[in-house]
Amino acid sequence: MKIYVIYGGKNAEHEVSVKSAFSILQHIYYDYHTIIPIYITREGTWYKGSEVKKQESFHSIAELVDLKHQEEFSFNELIEEECLAFPVLHGPNGEDGTIQGLFETLNIPYVGSGVLASAVGMDKIISKGVFKEAGLPVLPYKEVKLREWKVDSQSICENIETHIPYPMYVKPVNQGSSIGITRVLNRDELTEAIDLAFDYDHRIIIEKGVSVREIEVAILGNEDVHTSLPGELVKQKPFYAYEDKYLNQKVVREIPAKLSDELTRKVRKMAAEAFEVINGSGISRADFFLTEEETIYINEVNTFPGFTINSMYPKVWAKTGIPFGDLIEEVIQLGMRRYKDKH
Ligand code: ATP
Ligand code: MG
Ligand code: MG
Ligand code: MG
Repeated sequence: MKIYVIYGGKNAEHEVSVKSAFSILQHIYYDYHTIIPIYITREGTWYKGSEVKKQESFHSIAELVDLKHQEEFSFNELIEEECLAFPVLHGPNGEDGTIQGLFETLNIPYVGSGVLASAVGMDKIISKGVFKEAGLPVLPYKEVKLREWKVDSQSICENIETHIPYPMYVKPVNQGSSIGITRVLNRDELTEAIDLAFDYDHRIIIEKGVSVREIEVAILGNEDVHTSLPGELVKQKPFYAYEDKYLNQKVVREIPAKLSDELTRKVRKMAAEAFEVINGSGISRADFFLTEEETIYINEVNTFPGFTINSMYPKVWAKTGIPFGDLIEEVIQLGMRRYKDKH
């Protein structure tokens, strides 16, 4: 099968996507597939590389980005051939239903969730509403829109403070990898954090901050949903910023998370339910908060989670019994199966 591995992208998670693609290109099964890399620049131009023959084809991440000196890519190629698109993209313009809509329109099979699940999963307000409706516990939160903030920031802050105690988390609604997120302890920090979050989105969310364990569960499947053993992001500090996640290797992962059998069962069930209520397909990673009283809150579902060899998603699957190469193959097969079931 001819597979277009698409990475980079016009968003703040560009770099993470390139790293995920590098790991995928090193482990995909070349005996079964013809692999064509497609790089999307930060400005949104698509470039096509030549066919990748084996896993050593790329020696460094920089080489993946160097494709921008190759030929510009035309969608006609995707339409004319029998192929599968593999969007290895995180965040807006990739994980949020936009590129999925393009593939749907062009009738191209693709890996991962469809338009609806991608859009809902990326939107921290809409997804929380859907989770609440399904009876999945979420932390208290408030939405603020830019146009309201511009009119009366003072009364917005007062309103937030009457509903949510400090510390709070301020986040852009559509984003990932902790980009634009701040933990705040007072009014001054709140105002500054809201201004920062508006650099990334015109809607933001403010959540109650809790001091908790962070548990993540990987999901694999279409209608037949499988969940991994839970993993834990062991925290040395309250909040992992982008730099901690991707640059200074500060994150310690415990896999499987040390949880009772009952909690393990519960969190896996909640992960599957969250995936089903957003109508997910292929892959996802559900993120949870676990309090000292053992209440589990769902934070979010990432429909295309970090996919580097060191990321939580492949690591929990490896512990659950699916090595990286097999995992990629399964994700590819799920994408094909979803397309065939629909057509
Ligand atoms: P990613 O997609 O990489 O998982 P994201 O940008 O979608 O990240 P979140 O997962 O919502 O953002 O938040 C990033 C991190 O901030 C969490 O992993 C957690 O460490 C911390 N955090 C976020 N919200 C809260 C909260 N309400 N209480 C405590 N910690 C929080
Ligand atoms: Mg996220
Ligand atoms: Mg994410
Ligand atoms: Mg998260």
